[in-house]
Amino acid sequence: MARAAVLIAEGVVEAREVPIFEPEAGGLLLRVVLGGVCGTDLHMIHRLANEFPLPIILGHEGVGQIEKLGDRMDRDSAGEPVKVGDLVYWSPMVACNQCYTCTILESSPCTEAAHFAEADQPSWCSHADYAWLPRGMSFFKVPEGASIDAIMALGCALPTAVGSIDVAGAIKFGETVVVQGAGPVGLAATLVAHVSGAREIIVIDNNDMRLERAKQLGATATLSLDALSPDERKAAVMDVCGRTGPNMVVEAAGSLPAFPEGIFLGGHNGRYCVAGLWGAAGEIPTTPRELVLKNFTVRGSMAPRPKYYYHALHLAARMADKLPLAELITHRFGIGQAADAYRAVQSGEAVKVVIDPSIP
Ligand SMILES: [Zn+2]
Ligand SMILES: [Zn+2]
Repeated sequence: MARAAVLIAEGVVEAREVPIFEPEAGGLLLRVVLGGVCGTDLHMIHRLANEFPLPIILGHEGVGQIEKLGDRMDRDSAGEPVKVGDLVYWSPMVACNQCYTCTILESSPCTEAAHFAEADQPSWCSHADYAWLPRGMSFFKVPEGASIDAIMALGCALPTAVGSIDVAGAIKFGETVVVQGAGPVGLAATLVAHVSGAREIIVIDNNDMRLERAKQLGATATLSLDALSPDERKAAVMDVCGRTGPNMVVEAAGSLPAFPEGIFLGGHNGRYCVAGLWGAAGEIPTTPRELVLKNFTVRGSMAPRPKYYYHALHLAARMADKLPLAELITHRFGIGQAADAYRAVQSGEAVKVVIDPSIP
C-alpha cells in the first residue's frame, strides 16, 4: 500500500492508504518526488467549480521518478528515450485525439478527456507516494541536472501562462504588458513576458511580498490594488506604456472584478489574455463598447496542451540559475500534513506550496 491525500467530502481531506498498481501497456508508474499544490486544488476541495465524484486523490502537478515501465513504453511524449530511475514531469490530462477539438481544431480542452479517477483506482494524481500514468498521458523527461524545485516552483501556472499567452497572441519583443495578479499564474506570466523581450511589465496585486517576487522575475513596475483607485492604476499604466496603452493585459487574478478592469486598462489594438477566471463563476458588468473603440481582442483559455508543459519544463530548467525560481517554494509538507498544505495556500501567505512524500 501507499499513502495519498484523498478528498472524501467537501472541505475534508484525509491521508489514506491506497493500492499501488502495476503500469498498463504504454503507461508507467512513478514514485512522486514533489507534488505542487495549486489554487485549483482549493476549488476542488470546496467544490466551487466542478462536480467530480468523490473520493479522489488530489494533486495535478508533479515531478516523479520512473519506478516501472509498462510494456511498449520506452520514450517520453517528445520522443526522448526513458528508463527506470529517470525523472519526468507530466501533463495532467489524457486527450482522446478523436474529438473535433483534438483533431480538427488541434486545440483544447478535449471534450472527451479523462480526468480524475476514484481514490481506490489507478490515479495519476500527485499528492501521493505513487502516480500511475495511463497510456496516452503526455509526460516529458526532466533535463539532466535540472532543479526539481525550479520546475515545481510555478506548478501548472507556468504551462498555463505559456499556453494562454501563446493562444492570445504571443508577446513580441518590445511590447508592453500588464499582469493582473501576482499569484503563481501572474508570476509565471511575468516570467514569460520577461523572456519574450517585453519592454515594460507592470504587475498589479494587493500583496507586497508577491509584488517583490514579481520584480525578481522581470516586472519593471508594480501597482498596489489597495493603495490606488482603478483610475489611478489606469493613469500609472498609461504613464509607463504611453497614451495608447499596453499591448497585452494578462488576467491572472482569478477574481471577477479583474475582468472589467482588464478591458479598462487594455491598450488600442491590445490583447486581453484571460487565464485565471476558471474558478470565478458569476457575472459582472462590463463596457463592451470599449472593445470596439480600442479594436480590442479578448481571448480566454484553459487546459494547456501538452506542448506547453514541454516548453514550461524547459523554460524553468533553463532559467533556474538565472532567476530565483526555486525560492518561490515557501512551504513543504508531507502527505500526512496535506490538509495543512491546502490551508497554507488558502491563507495567501505562501507563494508556492509543495507536497514532498519523503517528509514523514
Ligand atoms: Zn479529444
Ligand atoms: Zn495547478
